[in-house]
Amino acid sequence: MEREKLYGKTLAELGEVTAAAGLPSYTARQIAAWLYKKGASSTDEMTDLSLKARSLLAERYETGATHPSSEVAGGDGTKKYLFRVLGNRFIEAAYIPDRERATICLSVQSGCRMGCRFCMTARQGFQGNLTSGEILNQFRSIPEHPSLTNIVYMGMGEPLDNLAEVLKSLTILTEPWGYGWSPTRITVSTVGVTDRIKEYLESTRCHLAVSLHSPFDTERQALMPVQKAHPVKEVLDIIRAFEMGRQRRVSFEYIVFKGLNDTPAHVRELARILNGIRCRINLIRFHAIPGSEYVSPALKEMERFRDSLNAKGIVATIRASRGEDISAACGLLSTLEQNKNQ
Ligand code: SF4
Repeated sequence: MEREKLYGKTLAELGEVTAAAGLPSYTARQIAAWLYKKGASSTDEMTDLSLKARSLLAERYETGATHPSSEVAGGDGTKKYLFRVLGNRFIEAAYIPDRERATICLSVQSGCRMGCRFCMTARQGFQGNLTSGEILNQFRSIPEHPSLTNIVYMGMGEPLDNLAEVLKSLTILTEPWGYGWSPTRITVSTVGVTDRIKEYLESTRCHLAVSLHSPFDTERQALMPVQKAHPVKEVLDIIRAFEMGRQRRVSFEYIVFKGLNDTPAHVRELARILNGIRCRINLIRFHAIPGSEYVSPALKEMERFRDSLNAKGIVATIRASRGEDISAACGLLSTLEQNKNQ
């Protein structure tokens, strides 16, 4: 019989586990501490639980902690880790060290149904949602875990399309009984799902990043089919109306495609649609993927675009390209691994 996984359960859910096993209610906090503070990988390690409690737990549960199935290291210190999920699928997490920061980029789904034209993960189609345990396992199981300073949900999949599990994972990351991280060190990136974004903003204080990529509806829809069902202007209206608080940051991800979305008209329209939103734009150089018609711009072109935005009063920065020698485009490595295993 397959045992249920404890890792990824909230304190309330652990309370249900202990109640069902007839264990004292304080046991739930002890289990949470073993899972999220002491890194226990088996119920046997939970030595402040009675022998009876451990044996009751072991009958039905396991921790559910797994190790990466492989890793690839880039010349700039970036690493990509692959994890096996849903039988024979692979998802990837990226470790990105940068001076005093060390960031992990997490995946939330196997594949993705958003269909962005410039994205390798989109070509996998949607394979399934990760559980909160599978999302957090990427964070806890890499060797660099103790040195991590920031977490971004920017890997494979759309976080708001798996909102319940994403919110659970954020609760575990930020609650004192969990990892106790500050929400100001966590950013969730979305294409902007209009009927879920408010729930995200109300449920957590973590930062928000929205993938923008073009201020023009038709052009954005050609890049991101999701624009049709979830127009970005509606997303911006929701953000504009929401009281963000001083600590929460809203940013916009903007992949720059040479000659496509970096003209003076784009600068003007960006300034117009972002008016009234305290934010910044992260400019990301397009990472080429096989068979794509899009072209990566030169650094000079990125700088020119950034300077034009800054001149319009928009804070824009160029995000350094990292890990280009290890298939930096999200989803490329896992696609290669899946093809090998088929
Ligand atoms: S860019 Fe993100 S949302 Fe778009 S298809 Fe890729 S993984 Fe999905």
